[in-house]
Amino acid sequence: MRTDPALLRDLRAAVGDDAVLVSAEACAPYECDALTAQRRVPGIVVLPRSGEQVMGVLRACRRHSTPVVARGAGTGLSGGALPVEGGVLLVLARLDRVLEVDPGRRLARVEPGVTNLEISNVAAPHGLYYAPDPSSQVACTIGGNVAENSGGVHCLKHGLTVHNLLEVRVATIEGEWLTLGSTAGDAPGLPLLALLTGSEGMLGVVTEVTVRLKPVPERVELLMASFDEVRRCADAVGRIIASGIVPAGLEMMDAPALRAAEAFARCGYPQDAAALLLCELDGLAQDVEAELAIASEVLERSGATGLRVARDAAERQRMWSGRKSAFPAVGRLAPDYFCMDGTIPRRNLADVLDGIAALSREAGLPVANVFHAGDGNLHPLILFDAGRTGEVERAERLGAEILELCVAAGGTVTGEHGVGVEKLGPMCSQFGAGEIEAFHAVKRVFDPDGLLNPGKAIPTLARCADYGAMRVHGGKLPFPQLPRF
Ligand SMILES: Cc1cc2nc3c(=O)[nH]c(=O)nc-3n(C[C@H](O)[C@H](O)[C@H](O)COP(=O)(O)OP(=O)(O)OC[C@H]3O[C@@H](n4cnc5c(N)ncnc54)[C@H](O)[C@@H]3O)c2cc1C
Repeated sequence: MRTDPALLRDLRAAVGDDAVLVSAEACAPYECDALTAQRRVPGIVVLPRSGEQVMGVLRACRRHSTPVVARGAGTGLSGGALPVEGGVLLVLARLDRVLEVDPGRRLARVEPGVTNLEISNVAAPHGLYYAPDPSSQVACTIGGNVAENSGGVHCLKHGLTVHNLLEVRVATIEGEWLTLGSTAGDAPGLPLLALLTGSEGMLGVVTEVTVRLKPVPERVELLMASFDEVRRCADAVGRIIASGIVPAGLEMMDAPALRAAEAFARCGYPQDAAALLLCELDGLAQDVEAELAIASEVLERSGATGLRVARDAAERQRMWSGRKSAFPAVGRLAPDYFCMDGTIPRRNLADVLDGIAALSREAGLPVANVFHAGDGNLHPLILFDAGRTGEVERAERLGAEILELCVAAGGTVTGEHGVGVEKLGPMCSQFGAGEIEAFHAVKRVFDPDGLLNPGKAIPTLARCADYGAMRVHGGKLPFPQLPRF
């Protein structure tokens, strides 16, 4: 494709010659995010170093009516940062400065390319940390976290990204600066910070983020409970929450996932278990002591066949290492895998896991489950071989059926990985035409010409008609074989 010379001139004026890539070779590393099944080599990649340069890029794209896609580290699992035809890929990774750590006000102000883990690292000398902890935290950027409203193992108690943001600075495609939220404790006006969080780069480009920091807890305990039946393990999740405890993290793995994690990380998981629960408690020493006793009793009464409390911080870290590396660990079991992301009410965990097992058998594709059980946020990992004819399509079909199952169980088609391009179809089962039109109307307010990350996150009504399903919830199930809830 021929690149518009006037656009190139304006982009080079905005960021400098060396920060504009156009050769296919230089642009190839940006062809996909972690949803590797979808790829498109971008025609132009720009690598600005400051917010002002980002604004310059957006103004140039607007002037030339060119679509633009923001990208952080490209660890997204739903194709949100997939380049669009004829568009510019705006990579924020060079905006990686920590601008301020204020222990008095317990906040950090950073540029969007700073990694999630780096924020906790710079806060650590002050006894503080940034709570949301996606398993990709070594690599993913805070800008990407804001755009996806990312979660993590410790979000059950400490909240998602949206609950830990104070203020963001945003460049709009209209060439304006917005400051959303406030560091003052209350932000008057409409809650646009919440609207922007999770908007997948479709409303504006985040150029600065101020996050809330929390004190490192006085005491932390990690319980590992093993079960000889998946259903018992799933039921224990609801019982722990019903006991009044809010664990910092409550994570579940089924047999394929825990065995893969053990083989990968040597983290001490019992190989003969059908399912495993990791339950972390944090807070004041005396509270944690009391909660540990309650959680242990609930797990025993729920039929745990093994119960172990991590001896010290090193063992705790080892136990978590398996969970945190479970995606790449499962990834070694097959040439390819899709990581699905649906959310369901906790009370339906056991039934939905049974339903997923049935769908997996029917499709002839193995599924491993490793997920944020306390939040009801499932991550079924579908294993397949893209080299075999028709297997990608079968895996995609199975993924869609699993998400339909989540919706039928009163849940949603995404928990924390966003919609991107991957879940455009399943969005049609979740929402009716009215809601989808409302999403488009909000997008038009920020981006009247539809230039920011077009074609992502919100399906068109025509696409929904093609998909053949709208609003399963309380309506017709497109897959009659699925159980009704
Ligand atoms: C192994 C693995 C484990 C993971 N574990 C988790 C997990 O536990 N929890 C979780 O929530 N996610 C998880 N993820 C998904 C992913 O890491 C998160 O979605 C993360 O927030 C993406 O950040 P990123 O910097 O890589 O963003 P990218 O993938 O580059 O982009 C993601 C989206 O954000 C937009 N975007 C990026 N930067 C900006 C910006 N500055 N302004 C506006 N829009 C922007 C992009 O356009 C795109 O739509 C995991 C991914 C992998 C590969």
